[in-house]
Amino acid sequence: MQEEMIRSEKLKLVSEMAASVAHEIRNPLTTVRGFIQLLGTSGASAERKSYYEKICLEELDRAQHIITDYLSLAKTEAEAIETIDMNQEVDYLANILLTYANYNNVKVEARTTEEALYMVGDKHKLRQALINIGKNAIEAMSSDGLLTIDLQKRGQTIVLHISDNGVGMTPEQLNRLGSPYFSTKDKGTGLGTMVSINIIKKMDGKIDIKSQVGTGTVFEISFPEGKKGS
Ligand code: ADP
Ligand code: MG
Repeated sequence: MQEEMIRSEKLKLVSEMAASVAHEIRNPLTTVRGFIQLLGTSGASAERKSYYEKICLEELDRAQHIITDYLSLAKTEAEAIETIDMNQEVDYLANILLTYANYNNVKVEARTTEEALYMVGDKHKLRQALINIGKNAIEAMSSDGLLTIDLQKRGQTIVLHISDNGVGMTPEQLNRLGSPYFSTKDKGTGLGTMVSINIIKKMDGKIDIKSQVGTGTVFEISFPEGKKGS
């Protein structure tokens, strides 16, 4: 019954999104079409033409990003529910994000717990959700940035903090976070956070975000604790 509800909710979301994805893809296509027409006119200088070319490629990349993010949401593959070792996941997340952090000149610190902590859910979906959040944190920082991933147990709850000392968000931006296509980035899709929030909620998780402009952002993500083998 619950599974059926989740499926119908997801279908609704996916079909709503399909309409807006179509709309979002039309924009770059229109731009590219216009510039290709301009490229065909003889008057433009070589410099101008290479500029048009650059815009075309960027717009096509943008369309591709939108499609990739949408497909990751629409994927209908069955949920693979298992017991997830959270300390292992935090290490995994820190390792995956490290390459990206190095590239952006920011540091990564991960804190795990002495005792084993487990939750129940789809490990690959969880990874996808946490990687999106971690990537945003890295993208929000400049060279003296520090990304921290901190795992704790609070009663019967697993609490994960993903924090950055980056640009932060205004209350207005914070409010729009998670709605499709809200992005402050040149090549942003504004789909990553929405996908993450959806995944976390479906795993009975909660998200609480605190952010201050110029100080940084903390994502607090919590899940009910699961027992090994459950
Ligand atoms: P994208 O990263 O493609 O812009 P997201 O859905 O992942 O799309 O994020 C939407 C927007 O939320 C970002 O463009 C950014 O403005 C804001 N945001 C998300 N995480 C953070 C963060 N850790 N610090 C500052 N801003 C953030
Ligand atoms: Mg993002």
